[in-house]
Amino acid sequence: MTMKFGVIGTGALGVDHMRRIQQTLNGGEVVAVTDINPEAAKQAVANWGLDAQVFPDDRTLLAEGNVDAIVITSWGPAHKASVLAGIEAGKYVFCEKPLATTAEDCLSIVEAEMKHGKRLVQVGFMRRYDSGYIKLKEAIENKWIGEPLMIRAAHRNPEVGDSYLTNMAITDTLIHEIDVLHWLVNDDYKAVQVVYPKKTKYASGHLQDPQIITLKTASGIIITAEVFVNCQYGYDIQCEVIGEEGIVALPEVQSVTFRKDAKLGVNLLMDWKQRFIEAYDVELQDFIDSIQKTGEPGGPTSWDGYIAAVTADACVKAQASGEWEPVTLKEKPEFYRTNR
Ligand code: NAP
Repeated sequence: MTMKFGVIGTGALGVDHMRRIQQTLNGGEVVAVTDINPEAAKQAVANWGLDAQVFPDDRTLLAEGNVDAIVITSWGPAHKASVLAGIEAGKYVFCEKPLATTAEDCLSIVEAEMKHGKRLVQVGFMRRYDSGYIKLKEAIENKWIGEPLMIRAAHRNPEVGDSYLTNMAITDTLIHEIDVLHWLVNDDYKAVQVVYPKKTKYASGHLQDPQIITLKTASGIIITAEVFVNCQYGYDIQCEVIGEEGIVALPEVQSVTFRKDAKLGVNLLMDWKQRFIEAYDVELQDFIDSIQKTGEPGGPTSWDGYIAAVTADACVKAQASGEWEPVTLKEKPEFYRTNR
């Protein structure tokens, strides 16, 4: 049965997910759309030639749109209200990060979902669907490198605009490492610290760039993650897991090697949208397939959204204090423990 989607927020990613559902994936169609700017929603529908109705807001879309699921791609502060409205209406919810902008708001979603009685929500942490990270996880779980002891990660962008603030290195950028790295080693964060190396001349006056974030897990794994958002040379995601018996690392992005002008080399990506393009496809296809097979989405849960929010809060605190800051999570409810 085709899953009928309503899309809330038709900006860059909303439109991309509309294209994805309509043209690339199997088993879904976009039938309803809303954006705070109705003209943008109408334009998106027209651009893709969709047979979709435009609604004035999320609540009307949920009440009248005849949808099975919503995709939330509005801006972060609006996510909580749309997720809660989706749960209240008993619809499946695919919410782009962040699930909500505070840990408390994430918990209110967790509580609403548990009260509903089955999982409805998946958070858009697409790196878990990237084939490179999946291979790293397999190597770790098969004990191929023994126990993991350390992880070295880097998240580098060529440049960012003036509106990018120091805390966004955590809330917008590191947030993906926060999610994928604890998933990789199946461990919880316990404490975090942030230090600032020498600042690049390419960062605007108010921005600390680069930053080194250290995350310590419950079992003692130390993760050092570099965020460097004005690195100039490309969009570059690195991850190396150092174990007792060996090391595994993310593969480099596939690109032809060239020999030209007395050089031997490969081109790097400049645009982040290209790096995980397949992972975006696979995550949303999995959302559709899991629901059709099991009645629940199978990807990152509301609880994962909560973990990311608590950890990001601790990192932002550590940016200001320069000290180790604890990551204090509530006990994971049974509801989110089982793979159902
Ligand atoms: P964007 O281009 O700014 O799009 C957001 C859209 O939502 C805009 O059209 C905005 O309208 C609209 N909007 C804002 N509040 C709304 C509300 N209450 N109801 C309906 N529409 C509303 O941003 P984006 O890059 O698409 O990002 C969207 C979300 O995806 C963000 O949460 C972002 O963090 C996340 N994201 C995730 C990834 C990833 O790698 N998974 C990558 C990029 C973005 P106005 O422009 O008029 O405000």
